[in-house]
Parts: sequence; structure tokens; C-alpha cells
Amino acid sequence: MVALPWLGGCSSESGGGSGKPVVVATTTMVADLAREIGGDRVEVKGLMGPGVDPHNYVPKLADTRLLEKADVVLYSGLHLEGKFQSTLEAMAKRGGNVVAVSDGLPAEQLLAPQEGFEGTKDPHIWGDPRLWALAVGPVVDALAKADPAGKAEYVERGESYRKALLELDGWAREEVGKVAEEKRVLVTSHDAFFYFGRAYGFQVKGLQGVSTAAEAGVKDRAELVKYLRELGVRTVFSETSINAKGIEAVAAEAGVRVSGSSLYSDALGRPGDVGEAGGVRFDRGTYLGMVRHNVNAIVEGLK
Ligand SMILES: [Zn+2]
Repeated sequence: MVALPWLGGCSSESGGGSGKPVVVATTTMVADLAREIGGDRVEVKGLMGPGVDPHNYVPKLADTRLLEKADVVLYSGLHLEGKFQSTLEAMAKRGGNVVAVSDGLPAEQLLAPQEGFEGTKDPHIWGDPRLWALAVGPVVDALAKADPAGKAEYVERGESYRKALLELDGWAREEVGKVAEEKRVLVTSHDAFFYFGRAYGFQVKGLQGVSTAAEAGVKDRAELVKYLRELGVRTVFSETSINAKGIEAVAAEAGVRVSGSSLYSDALGRPGDVGEAGGVRFDRGTYLGMVRHNVNAIVEGLK
């Protein structure tokens, strides 16, 4: 049970009624990680649904109730969850089993945002599956702390999922090889793809910054149009968790096309939204499927 500062006292009611530890996760990516590692031993509840932008997320009353019942709270961290992060940190300070999955990453692997947000790091770590594999450790530890009897199972599932992530990285590396190096320019709605770009050799530019809290201005659009023309970029990408109007306006002005496949940046797709490419089926509602969708869309759009 996580102690909430504004609720005083603990409810004795058990979480989901199933008797399993209740794991509350903020974003869809973190909820997916918890499901992969927790398996049937835990009940995972995600606060943010598909298509929800975590940067501007304001917790609802129902979220507060869920947090109150949680045995484990997992969040992404590095200020991805915006102002919500201070609430989560306060819960951790009061002794709650509240963990940022980004705590598993060594500081030297983190990127600084392009401009503004001094002193913070780019939170979009899931853009590189090898970095996301480092987020497995804190989840295994947090689940084992809540449910010591399940520790061996969490460790084993964590290890096999880590392997799946590294295999995914190997596949992605082969796929991006189909795009000539000079064509590896990824332009999207906001700065969510720097880790992806570093991993796979893409120049990356977003219309909005690392957070979506600030709207893109006229100057940002003009600069991006100039950039697209200078580099001869022909395809740009919208993102599922951000209104496409901004990037569409830039594309129209620059005379380039917007890919028909919107990228999943800060939220996974709907569970059960299955795609297929090269004989492989993938569920866009999972992290593994999200990366496959994005890589396929990027390679198709830029090669
Ligand atoms: Zn973002």
C-alpha cells in the first residue's frame, strides 16, 4: 500500500480484488513493461491510455484512487510526466514503492534536450530498445519487493524480455540499413526521436521541442521549412499522441508529404491493433509492436 500525503491513513481494502499485487503505471510503455515482467502474478493498471500525451497529463480523481490502492507505482521519469512527477516523488519519499523506470539508465547514456529545459535530460528513452532494456531492472526490483515469493519469476521474465528487446534492436538495425545514410533524416511533430536517431544513425528534428507543453510558433515552422528544403527531405511524420495540424502545415508549405503511417512517440497504440510486414505480425499496443510499426513506417517513408 502506498501512502498518499493527501489521503491520511490507509485503506485496508485490497487492490483489484484478485489478491494479486496491483501495479499502477503512468504511460502505456511503462504499463506494457510491467505486464511483460509481472505476467500473471500482478494486476497492471495504466493511468494514461493510447494516444495520450504524457507531458501535459493532469491526474484525474480516479487516478488518485488507483494510486491509493497500488502496491507498486511505476513511472517513466526524467520529467516525462511533467508536473505529475513531483506528486510521484513525494509518494516515494513517504516510503511508497514508487519507482521511475529511467532510474535503470546510467547518466552518461542520457541526452540533454536541444535547447531550453536546462538541467534536465531528454525523457524519450524508449526510442532506443537497448536503453529500454535497461529499464527492466528497476521494474524487476520493484515487483520483487512487493511480492518476494515471485522474485525468481520476475527475474526470469525480465531476462527473457531483455533478450527480446536486444533481438528487436538487431532487426531494426538491419531494416534501417535499407535507407541510404544521406536519406536518414527524421522530421516529426515533436522532439521524441533523438535516442532513436542516435541508435540508428538518423538526423532528427521535431516541430515542437522535447516537451509538447510549448506550442510551435511561426518562427519554428519557418525554420523547419528551410531545413526540409536544404536537406531535400521528401517525407515527414505525424505522431499519434499529438495533433497533426502543425506538421501538416509545415509539409504543405515545404511541398513535402506527410507519411500515411503516423508514428507512435509518447504512447503505444490500441491493444489488438495488429499490423503485418515481411511476414511478421505485431501488435501496436505493445512496445515490441510499436517499434516494429515505427521502423517499418520510417524505412518505407524515407528509402
Ligand atoms: Zn514527448
